[in-house]
Amino acid sequence: RAKKAGPGTICFFEEVDDKASRDRKALQVDLAGAIARDELFLVFQPFLDLGTNRITGFEALLRWQHPSRGLVPPSEFIPIAEETGLIHEIGEWVIRRACATLSDWPEDIRVAVNFSVAQFHNASILQTIVQALADAKVAPHRLEIEITESMLLSKYGSAASILNALLELGATVALDDFGTGFSSLTYLRKLPFSRIKIDQSFIRDMLVQPDCAAIVKSVISLARDLNIDVVAEGVETADQLEYLRQIACDEVQGYLIGRPVSADAVQALLNSKKLRAIFAA
Ligand code: C2E
Ligand code: MG
Ligand code: MG
Ligand code: MG
Repeated sequence: RAKKAGPGTICFFEEVDDKASRDRKALQVDLAGAIARDELFLVFQPFLDLGTNRITGFEALLRWQHPSRGLVPPSEFIPIAEETGLIHEIGEWVIRRACATLSDWPEDIRVAVNFSVAQFHNASILQTIVQALADAKVAPHRLEIEITESMLLSKYGSAASILNALLELGATVALDDFGTGFSSLTYLRKLPFSRIKIDQSFIRDMLVQPDCAAIVKSVISLARDLNIDVVAEGVETADQLEYLRQIACDEVQGYLIGRPVSADAVQALLNSKKLRAIFAA
């Protein structure tokens, strides 16, 4: 395509491409050593139950503290990890670290871990999870795996068998970013989800776009009929929270309730009666 645009353009695009690909290559090399150098860490973002006004758990979100680039967001390095196959090692690290952290928290608190589609290719993933739970002495029902619809589209067969095995193990599965993919309704019927997470784009727009509110309401009522819990992602304002309460959303997550924080900060939060009181207000 660049060729048709003329000689000057060729040069320009090639230079840009070249720089971008060198950059990516460098990130790949750095990422390969990130675990060994202890540069990866997890932050945890709370789920608030609107029925009880209690924190029910936390989602583990991966962070990479790069020695020279600073904090690299997962949207940048997860795709690289997936392409290079590093996701297996990183995904295992995430599961083990999340379970180990969970073992310090009260029994009624769960942890949710995000999964990549590539992790469904790995036959030993179940064994990894079983081992991580056993090593941390954590009950399987306290672990939730978050997957997205797009993962089901590309890898339905292996995804379904792994998800069913997870369920047999006692872990739960949540459908993340709900509403941004396709064929969700079919999957809801076929697969054993315990939870749907309505994508933040719907929550952001629901108070300004009636269509959006209609979708959110319908998803909640459908989920109730299917006996699936609903989490609203990306709740940022008190008005959004109030609306979600009115339409009986089960749980909420977002900057209003809490930003992702370190495991130590979670510990402090769980100990703080004051904070629980704020949520209850
Ligand atoms: P996600 O699982 O849908 O996570 C939600 C993202 O929204 C997180 O971004 C979170 O920090 C952000 N968020 C939470 N509340 C709000 C809010 O109120 N407003 C706004 N604007 N954003 C909010 P983050 O941490 O950058 O993660 C982005 C994505 O990277 C995640 O989306 C998930 O798909 C992926 N990811 C994160 N950690 C892991 C991991 O350990 N493994 C894999 N495979 N993917 C991960
Ligand atoms: Mg998630
Ligand atoms: Mg999401
Ligand atoms: Mg509930």
